[in-house]
Amino acid sequence: MPVASPPEAMSKSVLIIDDSDTIREQISRTLAQAALFDHIHQAGDGIEAFKLLLGTRVDLILCDLEMPRMDGIKLLGMVTSREELRDIPVIMLTGREDRELKIRLLSEGASDYVTKPFDSGELVARARVHLKIKALQDELRQSNEMLKHLSNTDPLTQLYNRRYMMDMLDKELQRARRKGTRLSLILMDIDHFKKVNDLYGHQNGDQVLATVAREAASDLRAYDFIARYGGEEFVIALPETGHDDALMIAERIRHRIQSLRFSAPLGTLRTTISLGVATYPVDGIASVDDLIREADAALYRAKADGRNRVVSMTRS
Ligand code: GH3
Ligand code: MG
Ligand code: MG
Ligand code: MG
Repeated sequence: MPVASPPEAMSKSVLIIDDSDTIREQISRTLAQAALFDHIHQAGDGIEAFKLLLGTRVDLILCDLEMPRMDGIKLLGMVTSREELRDIPVIMLTGREDRELKIRLLSEGASDYVTKPFDSGELVARARVHLKIKALQDELRQSNEMLKHLSNTDPLTQLYNRRYMMDMLDKELQRARRKGTRLSLILMDIDHFKKVNDLYGHQNGDQVLATVAREAASDLRAYDFIARYGGEEFVIALPETGHDDALMIAERIRHRIQSLRFSAPLGTLRTTISLGVATYPVDGIASVDDLIREADAALYRAKADGRNRVVSMTRS
């Protein structure tokens, strides 16, 4: 999952919306002098503004209240009701000293208001405050996304971790039950991995583990997911996939890992994996635990039967 660069590093832009060219120019000049923004966009009414907002990243909106076609309140409503625009602070430019109106604007999602004719110093000060709040909010959101990513990811393989996989499996099983679709699960374990560690050391063992994880993941469709289930054991969930297809996918992964070649110092290493496959629905599988238990039993037989093979659950 790519992590976006911090918002402070990005250039700042503002959108000034007013039907009066004179006022737009005046605000634009004021903001340009304050050097708060790298880009100053202008729009003559709400519709023009909305079109611009759909294709342009904006950090602050200054919006006149009374305009032809789409007025300020309508535009405010459209901005606050759209997920991707909701976080942009909107400062309303009101022509009237009307307390009720100001309360209404704030309760409908405006961040602030400035009364026209505006004082340059006040306008710049308010713009600065809301830019700062926006930057802090962006930073917080990014930190949260990063934390979420970290708490769902296994650091060595960059695959999902077990906890995340269990949550996802619960959801997928519920979905399969509700929609009457199938859900297959593959459990795979690297064969004789202890020997890899013994022969090449733990660090090289880690390298092999990460490579096997990457190779297995690269063979999957966008809506499948793979997680590190434990040490050198992985689980693959295949939504809307029947048992035969799952067996085929497992066989493809088995072959892919068997064909892997490593560079020095692992040059002569050949790795294989064993895989167990189970599919919902089938008698006796009512929960994620049941599904994993079936796949695990199949994996156990794959090991017992000589490893480097795919084994199906017994009840298919
Ligand atoms: P088999 O599964 O074929 O029965 O044999 P195995 O040798 O792979 O068996 P087992 O599951 O008992 O051992 C797994 C080994 O994987 C033991 C452990 O030291 C190693 N292992 C687990 N996690 C890691 C890891 O993060 N890095 C490395 N290098 N080794 C790990
Ligand atoms: Mg106007
Ligand atoms: Mg093993
Ligand atoms: Mg194991």
